[in-house]
Amino acid sequence: MSNITGLVCVNCGARYAENDAMFCGNCGVDKGILDVKFDLDRARRTLTRAALAGRAANHWRYRELLPIAEDGPALPAEIGWTPLIEAPRLAEALGVGRMRLKDDTRSASASFKDRASSVGVSRALAEGRRDIACASTGNAASSLAHCAAAAGLRATIFVSMRIPEGKLAQLLAYGARVFKVRGTYDEAWRLCMSACEKYGWYNRNCAVNPYLMEGKKTGGLEVAEQCADDPPDWVSASVGDGCSIAGIAKGLREMHDVGVVGWRTRVLGVQAEGVAPIARAFASGRFEAGAAGDTYADSIHCPVPRNWKKAIEAVRESGGQYVTVSDDEIREAMRLTGRLAGVFAEPAAAAAVAGVAAARRAGILDAHSSVVAMITGNGLKDIPGAMSALGEPHTIAPSLDEVRRIVENGPNHTE
Ligand SMILES: *Cc1c(COP(=O)(O)O)cnc(C)c1O
Ligand SMILES: [Zn+2]
Repeated sequence: MSNITGLVCVNCGARYAENDAMFCGNCGVDKGILDVKFDLDRARRTLTRAALAGRAANHWRYRELLPIAEDGPALPAEIGWTPLIEAPRLAEALGVGRMRLKDDTRSASASFKDRASSVGVSRALAEGRRDIACASTGNAASSLAHCAAAAGLRATIFVSMRIPEGKLAQLLAYGARVFKVRGTYDEAWRLCMSACEKYGWYNRNCAVNPYLMEGKKTGGLEVAEQCADDPPDWVSASVGDGCSIAGIAKGLREMHDVGVVGWRTRVLGVQAEGVAPIARAFASGRFEAGAAGDTYADSIHCPVPRNWKKAIEAVRESGGQYVTVSDDEIREAMRLTGRLAGVFAEPAAAAAVAGVAAARRAGILDAHSSVVAMITGNGLKDIPGAMSALGEPHTIAPSLDEVRRIVENGPNHTE
């Protein structure tokens, strides 16, 4: 038995039992996204700091707040509990009091999405399914392919033509069946929906599968536990579809509500300037999808976000804010995060750091603010994207004279 009490439609408030619906029948698949509710009073009895201290170092340690049965499958085992890295030089460069990085670059498939995919795979296993599928611009796909391979499910993945080669190589390495769809991401998404219906595959899609956000929630649960005695003022995260930030905010809130921590923290949502429908709706109160701009941060290139409502409400409820950042600001953040903290972030992950600089300039943060930035994906996933930010090496003949020429005259590193 799981600790779920029901699912509630974010649009009309209708309530469903755990296995009765994936989306709200009144509101349809586009609007009727469900939110999973847990018995927090029951969770509070067993989910204590003392109990947590004795549990395994992975995200299944929060079983009372996860959509899996106490004796149900929880695979792959090694997901979550990524380190929180103290980054004093980065804090100084950004002009804030303290920076800590939640380093999901070192998750199993090198992104935050492993948190959601592992929950999807575990639910598919609990239902006795053999097949699982998704449509993705990259990390949801590579993490699903990883989790399915580790747990023994077949994965079918629909990707758009934009997918970076590193992520595509991951899919093929993990043995997924990959459809590269000549069309928009939205077309790939709809095709995946139809195929899931036709073949009865389990659908790992955050927009239609409410349980996946509960996996992303573990990012917030972990930050709360890791900062239990030393709370940050803000947690910063980049936003594409909106599912990640909604999950992170929910996790932070639930750790407070079950009494593991005694504090709340504000959540800072960061979108790319060119593709920022959620940040704009937060500011204007009116949501409009499909704006024409662009960003090179492929993982947050999401002109038609489906979880915008959860993403806006979660940030507002935390007392937080949204900011937008340019691609150049993202490149600068990627350089700073690598050089000053030793963490190689992909563009969408560096955006969470760029957002700290933007929020500082906007006066949302001050010189004393303590911030945790969610580093959601590894820079190795997209080498051309990284190289556009990082410059070139010194190409030299094998001669000490040439080394001397650079060391004694040149800048300390490539610019
Ligand atoms: C998916 C992703 C995000 C954003 O998550 P959403 O749920 O789409 O808002 C941020 N960073 C990385 C690296 C991602 O893969
Ligand atoms: Zn509804």
